[in-house]
This record gives sequence, C-alpha cells and structure tokens, in this order.
Amino acid sequence: MNTRAKFRNIVLRHTTPDTLPNLISEQKNLCDLCGEPMYGDAVLEHSVPISVFARGPLALEKAVKKCHDPANIRAAHRECNGAKHAKTREEWFARGLNVSAANYQRNKAKGVHLQGFPRHRLGRLIRRAA
Ligand SMILES: [Zn+2]
Repeated sequence: MNTRAKFRNIVLRHTTPDTLPNLISEQKNLCDLCGEPMYGDAVLEHSVPISVFARGPLALEKAVKKCHDPANIRAAHRECNGAKHAKTREEWFARGLNVSAANYQRNKAKGVHLQGFPRHRLGRLIRRAA
C-alpha cells in the first residue's frame, strides 16, 4: 500500500459506523459469509473491502460514503471475515468459500474443529480456491 492508500485506509477504518448490534439482529444472528450462527464472535464485514476503497480512485469523501453504505456492511464471524480478507463478497461466494467456511464453523460449534476441520486445512482450501 502506498502512502495515499495507507492514509485512506486509516480514515476509512476510523469512520466505520458501529452498526454491528443492528446487523446481528437483522441477519438473525447468522454470519453473512457462511450462513452459520454467530456466538459472540461477530465483526463488521465490508462486502467490498476497505482496502479496495483505500486504493481506489474515488475522492476520499465519496469513498467513505460508499464504503460505509449500509448496502456494503454486514455482520460475519471474525474467522470468516479474516479468511475473506481483501476479496469482495462476490469473489468469496464465486469460489465457494462460504461452504468451506460453513463446514469450519459447524465443526467449531460442535467443538470438534481440532479433529474435523483444523484451521490450517481451511487455509489450504482457501489457497487452493484462490
Ligand atoms: Zn461465518
């Protein structure tokens, strides 16, 4: 990231609205990225990532507005949000990562994630799909 993008990234992060509690109830406590229930591990998720707006051509004021538009913000598991990283929501679903993430979350909820779907395997699946 160049200096312009780094600065814009900071501004975009600091201006993110705190709508998480509303989103969780609107989404009936289901993660936007895998469809599984969230257990207090929800975070705000930008469908088009902040980094895309930080690097993008829009004037900063416009970028802030578009980035934080309610249409671009969802609630998702911290793990799913981290795995999605700089991908857009479209890319995430197009690669079928929502299904991998759902398996991971399901196993985690059952407490069998260490045997069933360990973190490094999720990483491998994501790399293979990338
Ligand atoms: Zn999830």
